[in-house]
Amino acid sequence: MGTIIETNNLRAYYITKAYGVERTVKAVDDITLRIQEGEVYGIAGESGCGKSTLLRILLGAYQPPLTVVGGEVIYHLEGETMNAADMTEEQQRDMKWRTISYIPQGSMHVLNPVRRIRDTFHDFISAHRDVTKKESFQLTADYLRDLGLPEKVMASYPHQLSGGMRQRVTIALATILWPKLIFADEPTTALDVVVQRGVIQMLKDVQQKEGSTLVLITHDIGVHANLADRIGILYAGKLVEEADTKTILENPRHPYTRYLIESLPSLDSREERLAIPGRPPALDRPPSGCRFHERCPLAKEVCKTIEPALIQIEPKHDVAVSTRHFVACHVVEEELSRGGEHVYA
Ligand code: SF4
Repeated sequence: MGTIIETNNLRAYYITKAYGVERTVKAVDDITLRIQEGEVYGIAGESGCGKSTLLRILLGAYQPPLTVVGGEVIYHLEGETMNAADMTEEQQRDMKWRTISYIPQGSMHVLNPVRRIRDTFHDFISAHRDVTKKESFQLTADYLRDLGLPEKVMASYPHQLSGGMRQRVTIALATILWPKLIFADEPTTALDVVVQRGVIQMLKDVQQKEGSTLVLITHDIGVHANLADRIGILYAGKLVEEADTKTILENPRHPYTRYLIESLPSLDSREERLAIPGRPPALDRPPSGCRFHERCPLAKEVCKTIEPALIQIEPKHDVAVSTRHFVACHVVEEELSRGGEHVYA
């Protein structure tokens, strides 16, 4: 399994100027990722941690004041390696939707309110393929049936569908041309639990049918637990932990990840869940050292001044990306060095 998209020391800031005063919000700050072909990679963290900014950069859908100030994004698609910075707008547009697709948060923004669903599908398909209306209707009917959606939705207008059905139709629309790389932004937010399950199952089906890569962005660790193969935890614009989903859920090492897991509601326990104390920091004035130190119960003096490096704590040998466990925390690093374990820089 090769890498399909990677970032190297990516830094993307919002740079604004008002009345001669420049303000820089460090929303994505030195993030290195390797997302593998065919996997579901979850990006998690509280709101304001940089998830959506990272998504916009990965999608190439950004404009000032958001600016890439350092690092790079590299796509490995269709046998080619392309640096996002070297691509023209036309190349990016061409790549998007044909090989890359995006499932947005609100389905109402995607489906044209005055067009029937079948016409919205036709508009989309015919923009990328040379098809007649009859062919695109047939393709849509076959695809909706494949995904277990009733064919009758084709004749409906968006407002005639429930929120859950609209979201499913949006997912179908975003994936009907079988993109290699799918980004989903909070795809289950605002849906009730039962509908959420259906949407999660549908995302699984879509991803597995073609072995596409799915990059899933949500604050909801429960959704990641159901879908993701690996999870990257963002805090205040930094990647603070990354591992396979089982490890993140059963053996989280970063104190922030532990809070996120502890705050998950549990069906078999009536105990009150642990809330994360405090608030995420303002990213125009991020704290020095570890950005989590003001909220961390384990913080030490060193945490206030020196930023912890993201290190590979497992396994001891540098094997497949999918089995590596990375953490950025001084305390974890110290524990490992005391235990004589090998730490990879
Ligand atoms: Fe907490 Fe320090 Fe680890 Fe940051 S580096 S998570 S402040 S213990």
